[in-house]
Amino acid sequence: MYTVLDGATLFDGGKKHIQDAVMVFKDSLIHAVGERGKVKIPKNAKTIDCTGKYIIPGLIDTHIHLDMHGMGDTYHESLVEDKLRTIRAAKEMTNTVRAGVTTVRNVGSANFIDIAVKKAVEDGLIIGPRILASGKIICMMTAGNEYFKGLYREADGVEENRKAAREQIKEGADLLKVMATGAIMNPGGVPGAPQLDIDEIRAVVNEGRKIGFHTAAHAHGAEGIKNAVKAGVRTIEHGTLADEEAIRMMADKGVFLSSTLSSNFWMLKAKRNNNIPQFMFEKAKEVEKIRKQNLGHAIENGVKVVMGTDAGTPYNYHGKNATELIQYVKLGLMSEEQAIVASTKTAAEALQMDDRIGTLEKRKSADCIVLGENPLENISCLDPEGSIVFVFKEGTLIKGKVDVAHWAFASSDLETS
Ligand SMILES: [Zn+2]
Repeated sequence: MYTVLDGATLFDGGKKHIQDAVMVFKDSLIHAVGERGKVKIPKNAKTIDCTGKYIIPGLIDTHIHLDMHGMGDTYHESLVEDKLRTIRAAKEMTNTVRAGVTTVRNVGSANFIDIAVKKAVEDGLIIGPRILASGKIICMMTAGNEYFKGLYREADGVEENRKAAREQIKEGADLLKVMATGAIMNPGGVPGAPQLDIDEIRAVVNEGRKIGFHTAAHAHGAEGIKNAVKAGVRTIEHGTLADEEAIRMMADKGVFLSSTLSSNFWMLKAKRNNNIPQFMFEKAKEVEKIRKQNLGHAIENGVKVVMGTDAGTPYNYHGKNATELIQYVKLGLMSEEQAIVASTKTAAEALQMDDRIGTLEKRKSADCIVLGENPLENISCLDPEGSIVFVFKEGTLIKGKVDVAHWAFASSDLETS
């Protein structure tokens, strides 16, 4: 089946800007994209008039926790039973894809809920984004891990780390996640302090590499970032306290930095006494200024920064992912175009999926957002309360109403909003 989006202004996520564009989908893939007159429109194609609208690729969020619900008190959140968390996560993923986020990378989930939800999306049981799942987070034994029940797989020493990595792969993970430093959200965590050692992280990285999986490292402090880069991880998560050397190492080695400004943004916006544990709020507040500064330094020094929101953390709701891009622009860290590239093309590279997603090019997945406003002039139009008109994932209409009877979800009550 051919679908044509006709007449929009299109930014392909790379370098191409096309006025009066014609994009043709054939089933789940992009068949052609270009200026009017240069693209052949197949016979019997279903055409949607997009005159006056704007098209960009579907967004990619490289850091979420789909089984967390944004509750202020994450300890009580972790006491919610797994079965209920799973059902809740299914709904959250529908919100996420309808917000234009067509791919997510889940970096840590209790008891493999992420892998179950991923399968449910792939089997067509629920509507959600394409999900890459890490399973549990591999970490060293330390105080506070019990705060997030079922989320961590404690492993000490090279042998145990290797085994922990194999366990995640056996359960169906697509990537591996390690703790290279302490965490803000963990009561025992000292964000600046290193955790797993280089050889422990390397054991995990090597297990992943055997089958082409990458490793993501949670790392706030500079020493932990350097350990993780030396051990061969592909992405650094947060990078909050990166020093000059850590930034240089990430840039030189082509290691991606997932920014996660949204977690602090929503936590501090909620202010004290909003059920957020005191220790968590204080740690978030302490690093607020420096993390923005360091993200700026990383960008200036050529580190490949990608969109990551930490969605699921306190008040950081699934579906509000565009907050991250709005922050990039509002803080003067990126232009609107750079923000979109960070959440499409560059994010796809970070996930080793740039042959399939991230830009609107022939033979890539037909994932895109159609907007009523130009996001290159007003990034806030990507917010769910902004001006998203349609979302397509793999050529299927996920959000919006058009006069087409036979799209997969067109007659479903889940389809329109
Ligand atoms: Zn996280």
